[in-house]
Amino acid sequence: KEKIVFSLNDLIDEVLIFLYPSILDGKVKTLQKLAEDIYLEGYEDEIRQVFINIIFNAIDVLSPDRINPIIEIRTLKVDDKVKVDIENNGPQIPDNLVSTIFEPFFTTKTLGTGLGLFVCREIIEKHRGTLTCTSETSKTVFSILLPIAKRDH
Ligand code: ADP
Ligand code: MG
Repeated sequence: KEKIVFSLNDLIDEVLIFLYPSILDGKVKTLQKLAEDIYLEGYEDEIRQVFINIIFNAIDVLSPDRINPIIEIRTLKVDDKVKVDIENNGPQIPDNLVSTIFEPFFTTKTLGTGLGLFVCREIIEKHRGTLTCTSETSKTVFSILLPIAKRDH
């Protein structure tokens, strides 16, 4: 396993193709608002896993017959970093749980491991980034901030 420079937009496309059956099953609509030409440096498999985990969690909360379920993925350049927001219009995570959900083994699912978000945060921090969550009525956003790779090496 090696560190490589890879396209964020290609990675997001791949993840959505991979998750397409689950997205269809949950009747979830996906929207993308992506900045062009952003490259990341690191372990592509791990970053892919982060997206899969977060989007799977979103599908989980949207699936039980929610009306008009939507997942929106946005990327935005902020100086030498990229901010990725993964938003869903599911139920609010109570204020007192917004940080607890990142703790290992915290789960509200009968068959959950509670390891997904813990591992996601470990991976993002290993890539010198941050992973945070904000939640309000019908709007939960997971935000990833990562350094943009310089493409000339
Ligand atoms: P698991 O999916 O195995 O439960 P995670 O670490 O991925 O473990 O998530 C922990 C908990 O965080 C979930 O059980 C759920 O309660 C909450 N959670 C995660 N993502 C969302 C989301 N998009 N909306 C609401 N709650 C969420
Ligand atoms: Mg999970």
